[in-house]
Amino acid sequence: MNTGLVWDEWYMWHDPGSAAAFLPAGGPIQPGTHVENAEPKRRLHNLLEYSGLTESLQAIDPRPATREELLRFHTSEYVDRIKAQSEESGGDAGDLTPFGPDSYEIARLAAGGVIEATDAVLDGTVDNAYALVRPPGHHAEADTGRGFCLFGNIAIAAMHAQAERNVDRIAVVDFDVHHGNGTQKAFWDDSTVLPISLHQAGFYPPGEGTVDEVGEGDGRGYNLNIPLPPGSGVGAYETAFERVVLPALDEFEPDLIYLAAGVDSGAIDPLGRMMLHSDGYQTLTGLLQDAADEHCDGRMVAVHEGGYSSAYAPFSGLAIIEELLGETSDVEDPFLPIFEGLGYQELQPHQEAVINDVVENLEIALRNS
Ligand code: ZN
Repeated sequence: MNTGLVWDEWYMWHDPGSAAAFLPAGGPIQPGTHVENAEPKRRLHNLLEYSGLTESLQAIDPRPATREELLRFHTSEYVDRIKAQSEESGGDAGDLTPFGPDSYEIARLAAGGVIEATDAVLDGTVDNAYALVRPPGHHAEADTGRGFCLFGNIAIAAMHAQAERNVDRIAVVDFDVHHGNGTQKAFWDDSTVLPISLHQAGFYPPGEGTVDEVGEGDGRGYNLNIPLPPGSGVGAYETAFERVVLPALDEFEPDLIYLAAGVDSGAIDPLGRMMLHSDGYQTLTGLLQDAADEHCDGRMVAVHEGGYSSAYAPFSGLAIIEELLGETSDVEDPFLPIFEGLGYQELQPHQEAVINDVVENLEIALRNS
């Protein structure tokens, strides 16, 4: 495959400041490096270089999203506030989303990078693409930043694809360990965009991402949440794909698929409590690419979201990109023998019970749609 890669050095300069994990300085525990720092993403980029895969990838230059593009999703008050604070010394975009100087411009470059990846795929310049952008986007809502996300990168790009590129139906599959609340809210009453979020149940945002959140109005039946129990491994994710994600895509017949590629559902992620590994990510990406081949001439745009282990996130990202490219590098994941052997990697009954609930819900949703 001809796979595009969006990357810009400036993405790494977004600065959420110091924190104890994600708790801002000023609390009862000594702050250190914020958990959403540049290192895991930079090391993924480094690993692409080291593996030699960079030469096989087609560079896609990002551009800043325009104000008009941001306003398809965000309110003008929110965009103005982030711009003003960014031009000063920074601020907080909302819930757990601190940022420093220039972050408005860097976040515009992230959203614009996903737009450029989308256009390249739609133009046929590339078959598919990976947008290695930062800050992430899937938690950002119309009028507030949340969970380290300033602008809704995928939501903004999907709205661009529909408004400017005559794309009708778009699916967004999100396997980041956290719920894709921003994407869900962006298309809550919309039957033309189907967000499907697989995430650790009851994590972030607290209380959101439950099975019964299926959309409203025209969008009823066009939002799927698969809140998996903590400790879920490859078996649970593969089963969820086979029994929910792929049948939903078959029914929906998307013209374009986004993958919200959070690798914080991997083993040893400091925030997530799931057990995916590079082989698991490769399998899930392959299943999704097969669905894209079947429904939309392979048009898929993967967009980097979370992933906080600077030692392991790079191997997960590499596996996803290898699968998109259909080419394997000589780099073997040195952690894989340990993570494959973690107990209970296979589907467990309490995980299957959750998936069964969603299957039932999927059937109701499809009947109502
Ligand atoms: Zn996440």
